[in-house]
Amino acid sequence: MGKATGFLEFDRLLPQKEAVENRKQNYQEFVQTYSDEQLNNQAARCMNCGIPFCHSGCPLGNVIPEFNDAVYDGKWEEAYNILSSTNNFPEFTGRICPAPCESACVLGINKNPVAIEEIEKHIIEIAYKKGYVQPNKSNIKTGKKVAVVGAGPAGLAAAAQLNKAGHDVVVYERDDKVGGLLRYGIPDFKLDKSVIDRRVEVMQESGIEFRTNAEVGKNVPASELDQYDAVVLSGGSTIPRNLNIPGRELKGVHYAMEFLKQQNKRVGNSPIDTEEILATGRNVLVIGGGDTGSDCVGTSNRHGAKSVTQFELMPQPPQSRSAAMPWPTYPMLLKTTTSHEEGCQRHWSISTKEFLGDDKGNLRAAVIVDLEWETDALGRPTKFKEVEGSEREIPCELVNLAMGFLHPQFEGLIQQLGIAVDERGNVKASENSYQTTASKYFTAGDMRRGQSLVVWAISEGRECARKVDEFLMGSTVLESKEAVYTYA
Ligand SMILES: Cc1cc2nc3c(=O)[nH]c(=O)nc-3n(C[C@H](O)[C@H](O)[C@H](O)COP(=O)(O)OP(=O)(O)OC[C@H]3O[C@@H](n4cnc5c(N)ncnc54)[C@H](O)[C@@H]3O)c2cc1C
Ligand code: SF4
Repeated sequence: MGKATGFLEFDRLLPQKEAVENRKQNYQEFVQTYSDEQLNNQAARCMNCGIPFCHSGCPLGNVIPEFNDAVYDGKWEEAYNILSSTNNFPEFTGRICPAPCESACVLGINKNPVAIEEIEKHIIEIAYKKGYVQPNKSNIKTGKKVAVVGAGPAGLAAAAQLNKAGHDVVVYERDDKVGGLLRYGIPDFKLDKSVIDRRVEVMQESGIEFRTNAEVGKNVPASELDQYDAVVLSGGSTIPRNLNIPGRELKGVHYAMEFLKQQNKRVGNSPIDTEEILATGRNVLVIGGGDTGSDCVGTSNRHGAKSVTQFELMPQPPQSRSAAMPWPTYPMLLKTTTSHEEGCQRHWSISTKEFLGDDKGNLRAAVIVDLEWETDALGRPTKFKEVEGSEREIPCELVNLAMGFLHPQFEGLIQQLGIAVDERGNVKASENSYQTTASKYFTAGDMRRGQSLVVWAISEGRECARKVDEFLMGSTVLESKEAVYTYA
């Protein structure tokens, strides 16, 4: 334990953020860093619990008390070694993870939890500066060839681990750049794309080959995968949920990903081959209250939207834990993101019934209605009905549909390989084996578990790599997430 009285002496503190008016002028990250003293104090808050619930709250099994301790003592290389023993990409999770570890932190029972995510980000940024992040060139090669299809966080984590095990790894990615939703979903102001490039360079120097503009099942025939000893499918969950109401076809109604991908390409100077979608000067309606919707809000404000409104079908979540979400479970609480802070009218329990257009087929308004929800004994919403007489029109010239994703794309890769999908439409493979219905084909990330989080994608990529290694070699040299870091 770094400092026995740390949790009594210091309050949780998050780094300062750039003022809203300044940060809305560009797409740069705006969260600043701790001073050395602040970082030390935040690490000192960790109580090094006998049963560290933070550790089990993290899908990666990050060994949190140990790295907090190393940070408190200024042992940066040790902190980096502990962190990177369970997480290939702390620079991603340290920026955009919803931090289930913090929800499970014991200090969170009666105080604010330890700022684990920020500490993680500082460890990895210090490690890069001090030169600890080095290519992982395996000395022993197995002679086995593995293909990874899809270069999101799941595919990247699987590739890094399989390369570490000594296999020759080739990653296929249909986009022009690597990263999946890290690259073309999450906006630059949350995750600067140089952070991905920096990591991909290390992976290339480690010996991993990346082939971009390569869609397996389209411009790369699925039969090309025959030459590999094993294949990891990590194509994500990319089919968005639609809102099939009258007026859906009007000009100005888009899926959120059409809007977000275009903006990330604009920032990254990548060519845009679709019709330009800009929020500038328009009343923007975002339908869907999750991360994707929030990213549309932040992007619309940076475009200079006239107004930004966000609707959610479900009722407003509570501000603090209820009986239905006791500690240390991940609570579904009201989340006000940095994008919301930048300006947005938020409404819950709203259903959108119709989009209205002008005589040229351009969107001009949406017809909405309030909902009344029934709840169960624990206060969880169960059924809704429309509130009579609440139907009304609200003006909007741009709608972003951000209501989640259904399943992976079947056309192309999945159909050509003839592998089975489960009842939700995700590629069928158990959490124990990650193996699909075709023997040498494995799957990980959103493609297997459905729309989820970056931390889960990395966790699945790592676990899947262990199963591939076992399949190829009979046993695996890769760490399990159950293994606890031990001091040298
Ligand atoms: C807008 C948005 C914001 C989000 N924000 C957050 C957040 O703040 N925090 C968080 O934790 N999670 C967030 N998420 C969720 C998170 O991004 C995903 O859970 C995660 O990226 C899934 O990783 P993945 O590797 O499984 O798939 P993806 O990231 O979707 O990557 C799949 C990759 O496979 C490629 N591909 C697909 N088919 C083929 C093919 N046939 N051949 C070659 N390549 C192919 C795709 O082009 C893509 O690059 C967000 C999601 C969205 C949409
Ligand atoms: S639960 Fe919180 S206080 Fe306890 S070891 Fe983990 S981070 Fe530290």
